[in-house]
This record gives sequence, C-alpha cells and structure tokens, in this order.
Amino acid sequence: MAKKFKVTIDPRDECISDMACVSLCPDVFEMSEEDGKTQIVEKYRVDGKIEEGLVPEDLEECIRSAAEACPVQIIHVEEVNE
Ligand code: SF4
Repeated sequence: MAKKFKVTIDPRDECISDMACVSLCPDVFEMSEEDGKTQIVEKYRVDGKIEEGLVPEDLEECIRSAAEACPVQIIHVEEVNE
C-alpha cells in the first residue's frame, strides 16, 4: 500500500497571503489569481477542490514544513493509506 498524505487548507478564508507555504512547497501550493489566497496546485487536487489535496510520500516533508510555517495554522496534514 502506498502511503499518501491528505493536505487541507482550512479554513481557507483565513489565509493571510504571506506566501510562506508557496515559498517552502511550490510543488503543492500556489496563490490563486482569483482571490490572492493559497490553493492546492491542480495536479494534486481532490475532486477539483482547491483547498484539498492528496500528495505522494516524497512530498511529506514539503507539506509538513509549510504547515509548520503557516502563521495562521490553517494547513493540515493527515496520513492516508490507499
Ligand atoms: S502559509 Fe498560511 S497564511 Fe501563508 S499563504 Fe500559506 S496558507 Fe496562507
């Protein structure tokens, strides 16, 4: 079973757009051109949702460092087994 990680930006409304997550983990996070807040890059979105992603194990460190650095603590990481 491959290990994967669910990453959510919740509540996304509270993102203060300081770009910490985007700088630390650009493979997974990007700024939305629509509202200037962070979103999950299209490649990893779950059901097209911009605030929920599923990423492979090799990106675990990347998303965890983003979650730790987020000043408003809205990035959440959860391990899932598929
Ligand atoms: S680190 Fe947090 S507050 Fe900063 S852009 Fe990312 S989600 Fe928004």
